[in-house]
Amino acid sequence: SAASREAIRAIRDWAVNGPVARPTPRSANDFGRLVFSDAVQRIKLPRDVYKRLRRTINRGEPLDESVADAVAVAVKDWALEHGATHYTHWFQPLTGITAEKHDAFLSPTPDGKAVTEFSGKELIKGEPDASSFPSGGMRSTFEARGYTAWDPTSPPWIYKTASGTTLVIPTAFISWTGESLDKKTPLLRSIEALSKQAVRVLKLFGSKADRVTTTCGPEQEYFLIDAHFYYTRPDLIGAGRTLFGAKPPKGQELEDQYFGSIPERVLACMREVEDELYAIGVPVKTRHNEVAPSQYEIAPIFEQANVATDHQMMVMETLKRVAPKHGLACLLHEKPFAGINGSGKHVNWSMGDSEGNNLLNPGDTPHDNIQFLVFCAAVMRAVNKYQGLLRMSVASAGNDHRLGANEAPPAIISIFLGDMLTGIFEQIEKGATRSTTHGGLLETGVDVLPKLPRDAGDRNRTSPFAFTGNKFEFRAVSSNQSIAFPNIVLNVAVADSLDYIATELEKAVEKGADFEDAVGKLLVKLTKENKQIIFNGNNYSDAWQKEASKRGLLNLRNTVDALPQLASAEAVKLFEAYKVLNKRELEARLEINLETYNKSINVEAQTMVLMANRYILPAALGYLTQVAQSVAAGKAAGVQSKEAKKLLVHVTKLVDAFKQRTEALTIAIAHEGNGESLKHAKYMRDKIVPAMAALREVGDAIESVVPSNDWPLPTYREMLFIK
Ligand code: ADP
Ligand code: MG
Repeated sequence: SAASREAIRAIRDWAVNGPVARPTPRSANDFGRLVFSDAVQRIKLPRDVYKRLRRTINRGEPLDESVADAVAVAVKDWALEHGATHYTHWFQPLTGITAEKHDAFLSPTPDGKAVTEFSGKELIKGEPDASSFPSGGMRSTFEARGYTAWDPTSPPWIYKTASGTTLVIPTAFISWTGESLDKKTPLLRSIEALSKQAVRVLKLFGSKADRVTTTCGPEQEYFLIDAHFYYTRPDLIGAGRTLFGAKPPKGQELEDQYFGSIPERVLACMREVEDELYAIGVPVKTRHNEVAPSQYEIAPIFEQANVATDHQMMVMETLKRVAPKHGLACLLHEKPFAGINGSGKHVNWSMGDSEGNNLLNPGDTPHDNIQFLVFCAAVMRAVNKYQGLLRMSVASAGNDHRLGANEAPPAIISIFLGDMLTGIFEQIEKGATRSTTHGGLLETGVDVLPKLPRDAGDRNRTSPFAFTGNKFEFRAVSSNQSIAFPNIVLNVAVADSLDYIATELEKAVEKGADFEDAVGKLLVKLTKENKQIIFNGNNYSDAWQKEASKRGLLNLRNTVDALPQLASAEAVKLFEAYKVLNKRELEARLEINLETYNKSINVEAQTMVLMANRYILPAALGYLTQVAQSVAAGKAAGVQSKEAKKLLVHVTKLVDAFKQRTEALTIAIAHEGNGESLKHAKYMRDKIVPAMAALREVGDAIESVVPSNDWPLPTYREMLFIK
C-alpha cells in the first residue's frame, strides 16, 4: 500500500539521519524535577503548614482551610516559577481515561489589569461540568453537577510540553450527593479499609505499626509501529486493533524478539517517554523487547498504590503522546494483532507497614514467618472467596482476546505459590492436626521459610495470580485498563480476610488461648478452606480446565459472563461492609461496564463494515476483473489456462462470500439494544462477535490472493517487521 511505501521511506531516512534531537544527559536531579514533592513541600511551605499537610498525607488527618490556603499559595508560586499558566484538577472518571479542564491562574482586576490567583478553595475543590461523564444512572442530567476534590496523598506535578505548561492536581470526582463517579475515590477507601484491618492483625503480633500501605508496581506491555501504518488503518484508529489482517509468513515463532536489542528509533522514543515520566516523578526503571514482534515493556519501581495508579495512567498517556514525535504509534490494546501475543499489565502487589516492613516478605525468624504466613493466607482466602470479583475486575471486550487464549492467563482465577510455599501450607495442615502442642507448627513448617527462593527460578508464566518471592503478581490485568479496579478488589477482599483473621484471633486470645497456638489452628482452617485456589501447574492446559471445574472454581470465559459479579449480593455485602462502594455505586459501574462493552463491539463491527465496503471489496473486485480479463484474453487468443479459470472461480467465490458476510454483519448491527444492557451485551457476544469473525475469515483469504500493489491496507508483515 501507499502507506507502506511512505513508512519505508521514513524508516530509511531515520536510519541514515538519526533522531532529530540527541537526548540530553540525565542526572539523578532530574527525577521528580516537576513534582511538588515532599522535598519541595518542605522548602516551600511554612513549617507548621508542612507538618500538618504531612499528617494529612501520612495519617489521613483532615485538612482545614487555612492550611489549604497556605499550600495553595506555595504551590501556585512554585508552578509559576516553572512557567505554568494554568492549573487543572485531574481526575479519573469511569470512562477508562483521565480528564482535565484547564483554568488560568490569571484573574482580571477592576482596574483593567490582572493578577495571578489561586486559593485554598480552588486547590481543594473544582466543579467541572460533569454531565457528559458516565454515571451509570446515578445522576440524572438535571443534577448533573459533580465536583473534584484534591487528593493530597498524590503530589501535584507540572505538565510541561512545548505547547503549554499546566499545574496538575490529582483529584477525586464525586457527585453532589456524595457518590463516587471515579476510580480514585473507591481506591482510597479500599486502601484505608485494608490498612485498618491489617493493623489489627499486626497488633496481635506485637507490632507498633499504625498504618499499612498497599504497594503496587505495574508492568506495561505495548506495541510500537510506524505511524504511517497507523494513520492508514481505520481499525487501528477507531478500535485500537486490527479487525482484518492475514497471518504473515513469519510471526513470533522464532522467538527472536524477546529481550532482543531494541531498535534505535524505538529506543529514542522510549528515552523521551522516560525523560518525561522522570520529570513528573514516575520511577520508570525497566525497558525491554517483549515476546511478539514490535512489542515492548516499560516497568516502574513500585509505589504506594494510589500514586502508582495515577502514575500508571501517566505512563499510558505519555507513551501515546510521545510516540508520534518519533514517527511511531503506540498501541495499548490487549490484542492489536491476531495470531501473536497480546499485551497485559502485570500488577505486582504487596502490603507495607509504617515500620518499613513488607508484609509479604518471608522473615528471618520463625516469629516473623508465622506473621508472613498469616498475611499470605489472608491473600489466599481473599482470592479464593472473591475469585469472581477479581475475574470481573479485568474483564473487557479487549481482554476477551487474551484471557483463556493460549498465551495469557486463563479466565479461571487461581494462585501460584510455588512448590516450597505450597509444601509448607500442606505441612501446616497435616502437622497441626498431628500435634496441637506449642511449637509443633514451627518445627514442621515455618523454620524452613527463610530458604524460600526469591529469584526467577521458581516462576510460572501461566498463572493469573502468582507469588513472586515477596509480592503477588496479578497477571490477568490488561494492557489498556486502569489498574484502579483490580487494586480496589484486591484491597477490599484482603481487608475482609484480615478482618476475619483479626476477629478470630482476638476472640481466641480473649478466651485465654496461647497466641501461636491460635494462629496455628487458624492457619490450618484457612488452608483447608482455601487450598482449592492453589494451582502450580500449567494454566493453559485442558487438564486444568477439567480440574478447576472439579474443584468448583469459577470459569467466567468472557466479559459478559464476568461483569454481573460486580453487583452480586456477595459483592454488595463486601463493598458495603468496608464502605468502599455502595449498592448504587456498584450497579452504576456494572451498567457503565456493560455499555462500554456494547459500544466497543459496536464500533468494531461498524468499522469492519466500513473497511469491507470501501477498502477490501473494491480491491477484491479489481482483482476479479483482472483475472476475468486474462481468462477472456486467453480465450480470445485460443489458449485457455485451466488454472486461470480455476482462479477466476475461486476469487468469484471469495467475493460472493465476502459480500454476503458483510451484509449479514450489517443486518446484525442494525439490531437495536432495547435499553437492557446485559441482554444487549449477550447479543453482541453471541451474534455480532461471531459475525465479525466470519467476515474476517474471508477478508483475510482475499488479502492473501490480491496483488500486493493493489492491497489498500498495510499488512501484518509490514506493520510488524518494518521498523
Ligand atoms: P520481574 O517480575 O520482571 O522479575 P521484579 O520482580 O523486579 O521484576 O519486579 C516487578 C515489579 O514488581 C516492579 O515494578 C517492582 O518494583 C515491583 N515490586 C517489587 N516489590 C514490590 C512490592 N513489595 N510491592 C509491590 N510491587 C513490588
Ligand atoms: Mg513480572
